[in-house]
Amino acid sequence: MLNKMTVEDIQVKGKKVLVRVDFNVPIDKGGHINDDRRIREALPTIKYLKNSGAKVILMSHLGRPKGKVNPEFSLKPIAESLSALLDQKVIFAEDVIGKDAFLKAEALKDGEVMLLENVRFHGEEEKNDKVFAKKLSSLGEIFVNDAFGTAHRAHASTAGIADYLPSAVGFLIKKELEVMGNALSNPERPLLAILGGAKVSDKIGVIENLLDKVDSILIGGGMAFTFLKAQKYDIGESLLEDDKVELAKSLLQKAIDKKVALILPMDVVVAKEFKNDTEFKVVTKENIPADMMGLDIGEETIKVFTNEIRKAKTIIWNGPMGVFEMNNFNKGTYAIAKAMAESKGTTIIGGGDSASAVEQLGFGDKMTHISTGGGASLEFLEGKILPGINVINDK
Ligand code: AMP
Repeated sequence: MLNKMTVEDIQVKGKKVLVRVDFNVPIDKGGHINDDRRIREALPTIKYLKNSGAKVILMSHLGRPKGKVNPEFSLKPIAESLSALLDQKVIFAEDVIGKDAFLKAEALKDGEVMLLENVRFHGEEEKNDKVFAKKLSSLGEIFVNDAFGTAHRAHASTAGIADYLPSAVGFLIKKELEVMGNALSNPERPLLAILGGAKVSDKIGVIENLLDKVDSILIGGGMAFTFLKAQKYDIGESLLEDDKVELAKSLLQKAIDKKVALILPMDVVVAKEFKNDTEFKVVTKENIPADMMGLDIGEETIKVFTNEIRKAKTIIWNGPMGVFEMNNFNKGTYAIAKAMAESKGTTIIGGGDSASAVEQLGFGDKMTHISTGGGASLEFLEGKILPGINVINDK
């Protein structure tokens, strides 16, 4: 159980509630939002607060404006999209801690919703500057963090601000922590983790932490090749982190010691070049040609991996099985997504690339939970404490 205050534990009627949300959505040059999932995921908290009579002041970052005002990163299009989703006008403040924000915040009526301009227009945001955090806090009376996507960052609007206001988490963070927390601490077994993506170095902490918890781990994607190398296979031109081969060896040994089944690809799709239109074929791990690179898991591996998914009761997936952005090398990732969609168990997608792959392939609504935070869910799976959650008042 979550031991942090949640929005339901606090009195919000008539109060100005500052809510950190993650509206860092992809917007094209014409101001069109390509994927509004993060906005929709914030709706339960926003609706709850406004229906409870709070004056809701939303704050978020968008992109990397590097501490400078840049219209390209304005949150204005998001205020419009949110107005449509809430069926209520969302007031937009043209600045963050300037006159416009303070005047509009003062004029708010109960149940109204306002959005501040991009907090990263101030360099102090990412530096977690105290003066900036205090000024920001003076816009409201209560701080609610519902931005899981930035909960692993100690910034002014995600962490520093909590020094000056009573605080609570919103429904999105609550859901993220409960679903993923439960899967790690009290899962229905077998518990299976599937890891992929480009680099081993990004996922060392995750593998180490998960080896203490899971029954099996499947490893695909570019990172699998460093493990295959550790088992003395020739991996040709495949992605290799030479300085991580010894570590891969020790992780393989740790899996044996902990009686965790760590399964690597037995066959791979190899290609001449890192592009879609090139010669490619499926080979066994013993037969990777010296002049080719592995860009996806092979058919035999797909069979073995999907069979493991069928047996598991709880499945956590982070990282694509191959270069899924290219048509010829997306079969492994597709097969994993499909098998997870068909699973009757609890299926959790740890944000980032695997989340977009699942959405792109049309399996989004078939999963138990798709995390809204790539980096944050990785750090959570590593067993790290997330600063944006740590600062929230305990129950
Ligand atoms: P990550 O951000 O670490 O989850 O990595 C995701 C990226 O890994 C995607 O852009 C994939 O194209 C890439 N990737 C997956 N498999 C491979 C592979 N076998 N070789 C090179 N890149 C890969």
